[in-house]
Parts: sequence; C-alpha cells; structure tokens
Amino acid sequence: MYRRQFVGAGLAAWLAGQGMSARALAGVYAGLQAVDADVQALTLDQREQIIPRSVAQGLADSLRGRLLLPGKAGYDTARQVLNPAIDKHPALIVQPSGASDVQSAVQFAAANNLVIAVKCGGHSFSGKSTCDGGLLIDLSSYRNVQVDATRKLAYVTGGSLLGAMDHECMARGLVTTAGTVSHTGVGGLATGGGFGRVARRFGLALDNIRAVDVVSADGQLHHASAEHNRELYWGVRGGGGNYGVVTHFAFGLHPMQRQVIGGSRIYPLDRARQLLTLYAEHSMRAPRELYLDCSVGYPPGGGPGFASLDLCYSGQAAGFEAAMRPFEALGEPLRDSVASVDYVGLQRSTDLSDPRAMVSYVKDGFVEGITPALIDSILDGLQGNPDRFTQCYFQHAGGAIGDVDPTATAFSQRYASHDLMVILAWPPQADAEAHTAYIRSYWATLEPHTRGYYSVVAEDKAGTAAIRANFEGNFQRMVALKDRYDPRNHFRLNANIKPSAPS
Ligand SMILES: Cc1cc2nc3c(=O)[nH]c(=O)nc-3n(C[C@H](O)[C@H](O)[C@H](O)COP(=O)(O)OP(=O)(O)OC[C@H]3O[C@@H](n4cnc5c(N)ncnc54)[C@H](O)[C@@H]3O)c2cc1C
Repeated sequence: MYRRQFVGAGLAAWLAGQGMSARALAGVYAGLQAVDADVQALTLDQREQIIPRSVAQGLADSLRGRLLLPGKAGYDTARQVLNPAIDKHPALIVQPSGASDVQSAVQFAAANNLVIAVKCGGHSFSGKSTCDGGLLIDLSSYRNVQVDATRKLAYVTGGSLLGAMDHECMARGLVTTAGTVSHTGVGGLATGGGFGRVARRFGLALDNIRAVDVVSADGQLHHASAEHNRELYWGVRGGGGNYGVVTHFAFGLHPMQRQVIGGSRIYPLDRARQLLTLYAEHSMRAPRELYLDCSVGYPPGGGPGFASLDLCYSGQAAGFEAAMRPFEALGEPLRDSVASVDYVGLQRSTDLSDPRAMVSYVKDGFVEGITPALIDSILDGLQGNPDRFTQCYFQHAGGAIGDVDPTATAFSQRYASHDLMVILAWPPQADAEAHTAYIRSYWATLEPHTRGYYSVVAEDKAGTAAIRANFEGNFQRMVALKDRYDPRNHFRLNANIKPSAPS
C-alpha cells in the first residue's frame, strides 16, 4: 500500500517535472484518456447541445475501453460502416472492453439525452449502426467466441463476426445458423433474423439463441432466456436492437460434418425464365439439407446477363442428386463450381475483398411461393447498366424456419418460402440518381408479389404503419416491451418500435 503510494507520488513528481498535467499524469498512469474540449452533440429531438468537457471526461474515466472524439485518432475509422455512402459523425464513440463499459456508455447517453447507435459488423445497408450527434457504441472492440462442445453451446460476445463463430464451432464438428457472408455481424443478424446455408435444417440464427445478456436503456444488464426474463428473451429474437445492446449471446449448436456440397452454377440470361420456373417448383420441395439461392442479373462493365444457382447441401449424396436432377433440363452451365467443399470455406466464399468498395442499395420482401406472374415481373423489369452491379435474388427460406410458431419469437414472417431482394451496387464516386430511380421503379412492380419484409434489410420501410404491419400479431407485445426497456426510445436506429409515450 505505502509502496504503491510512494511509487505513484514519485512518478507524479517526475512527470510534473516534465511539464505534464495531473490529468495527463492520470492518463499515463492508468491508461485513461484526456478529454480536452467540450463536446457538441444533438439531443434525442435533434436540438444542438454542448456536453461539458468534465462530463465527457467522467465517461472516459469510467471506461476500460476507449472513448473516441471527433478529430482524435481512431474516430474516423470507428464511425465507418460497410456502405461507403454513409458519412455520419457521432458526438462520441465508445469502444467497450466488456459489458460494464456498455453499461457506462448507455447510462451516459441516458443522462445526456443522446440517441444510441450500436455497431457490430456495420452491415446495415442504410447505416443504422451509426448516427449524427449521438453516442455510437462500436462493439468491434468486443469480439470473442467460445465453444462448450459438451453442452453444444457457443458463447459469443455482441461485437463478433459470423466468420469467427463458424470457425470455432466447426473446429469441434458443430454448427449454428449464420448468414452467407462471414464479415457480417452476429449482433445485427441474430437479433433481426438470420437466414443462411443451414437455416432450413436448424432454423434462423435467432431460433438458436438460448440466452442473451442485454443492457437496456437505463444501463441495467439483464440475463434473458427461456427461464429468466422470458419476455425480453422473446423480444430480442426478432426485435433487432430495439430493447438494448446484446453484450453476450449463447447459441445452441448442432453436430454437422465439415465437408458439404457447395458452390454455384451460372447460366446465360436467356435461360432465366426456365431456371426461375424450375426453381419456383423445386426449391419449394427441396430437402431441408439443401439450401438453394437463385439470381438473375447483370455484372458491372456491360458484360452479358446471368442466371445462377448458389447452393449448400449438407445431407447424404444421393439426396442431393435427386433434388438437383430437375435442373439438368437447363443443360450445361457456363460455369459450375459445385463440389465437395469445406463448410467454413464456403461460408467465406462470397466475402467481399474490399467491403467498402461499392455503395449498395437493396429492396426486400418475403414471398410465399414464386408465381408465374412474379417471374414475368422480374424478367420484364430487369435492366443492366454497365455502371453498376444489378441482381434480383431469392434467398431460400422455409424448412425448419417455418416450423416455429409466428408468435414464439418477435420474428413473425414464418410463412416465407423465400426472401426476394433486388441489389444494386455502384462505385462511391458515381452519380446515384439513375440507379436509385431504377430500383424504385423496378421494385414497384415486384413489391405487390411480396408479403412483409426482412426488417434488417428493408430498413428504408420506416414509419409505424409499415412496421406494425410487418410484425403482424406480435407488434403490440413488442410495444409493451419497448415501454419497459427503452421508454424514451434511445435505441431508435433499427426497425423502430416506438414506445407508447415517447419523450
Ligand atoms: C454483404 C451482406 C450479406 C448479408 N447476408 C445475409 C444473410 O445471408 N442472411 C441474413 O439473414 N442477413 C444477411 N444480411 C443482412 C444482415 O443480417 C443485416 O444487415 C444485419 O443487420 C447486419 O448485422 P451487423 O451486426 O453486421 O450490422 P450493424 O450495421 O452493425 O447493425 C445493424 C443493426 O443491428 C443492431 N445491432 C448490431 N449489433 C447489436 C447488438 N450486439 N445488440 C443490439 N443491437 C445490435 C444495430 O444497432 C443496427 O440497428 C447481409 C448483409 C450484407 C451487407
């Protein structure tokens, strides 16, 4: 004790001799960070406010992780999300080292009337994981996956990416549902839904959540599972980030072999109608071990259009041949990469080498089967443009996803056979107007064939009416939960469930 004080005092005297302040001294000694100016921020209702330097310093001092402020090292990297068209400036960014830092950050935001943005993988197409003038909790500093193979559980921190989860689980011969691009965040995907290559066998990612730890808007940490805080456990599975920051997930795991059949078959666009027609029939009948996506579109650069199948099959080989036989009517593909592959490698096979190279814009809606009229609309409106990537895409749903009652979790669209998306992507420097006008007019012809939408993708469908309709019979229960865990709507950057009486 005396020795620590003496060493501290001696160090203080030495640093003072070097011209360093007491605050800087504390920073050097304990790894704390000095806030050197007041912070400009926006209130919840978007009015300008100044947070005094001493108040912001209080936040910095409470953290083991980092507080990043505008103009300081690390701030501009931390505020970035996947979509390079999003350019927002949070007033403060906290990179937590653990759940208690998340609690400090949330308490600070509540006390200072700030919107809270939460970033995990940053894959929100519309940039819901950052904000102007509020507090960003950047969970990229909080990534860890641990597998308990005996209990078949993966313990995953709230900032983790899918690739780490797949990698650690499969090393023990286990798997849980994840999306198809490995740099997507667990936080956004698993709280909103979670379609992927094994979802038809094992359910959505959110169906595999066994427990969560959540920091609600008052800064309290809640453990929620089938036994504890059951209502919160219900709402977190489909309610996105509406109820707080998930700091930990426990996912149930399933034994699965490492080698699966996977890859893609690419056909010329003139076979698109035949492919879509076969897909409409046979994807509906596919065994649960078969995940089969279908796309039509045009590459950037003016190349010829394509029609393609992307697949993953994790059952017995004979079942695969039977399920795919009808597609032999299409003849030889232009390119065929379907082979026995490592599941974790397949999960990485569509990763973007430079995820921020292109601006992307997506329209999305669920379908209950693919009708001839929908196929007509898809093909009638599909237009390539050499300045962009153009794709109309069906992500395969059904199977185990549909076994779950629509009221068993907040995710209500159990009826979906497929998620239909139109995806455009163009370089950041290009003029977006022509592309956004095209996707809106194209989607206007496709949307009437859809029912509901995937809330973490179709984030531009804002407003209570659209969100109420989408969550169907679950909506009122979600509002009641919002009233309890975020009554002032600090967590509004999501498919927002507005509390009954927002401030
Ligand atoms: C290239 C690409 C591929 C995709 N592939 C699939 C796919 O195969 N299957 C599929 O189902 N979806 C897919 N998606 C959609 C994806 O699931 C959503 O965009 C999801 O929100 C991304 O999660 P994230 O953590 O990366 O996003 P972020 O942008 O970090 O967050 C998105 C939302 O989730 C909230 N959030 C994030 N982490 C937490 C947390 N720990 N606690 C509480 N709230 C949190 C954020 O506040 C924000 O509202 C894909 C998206 C992209 C861009």
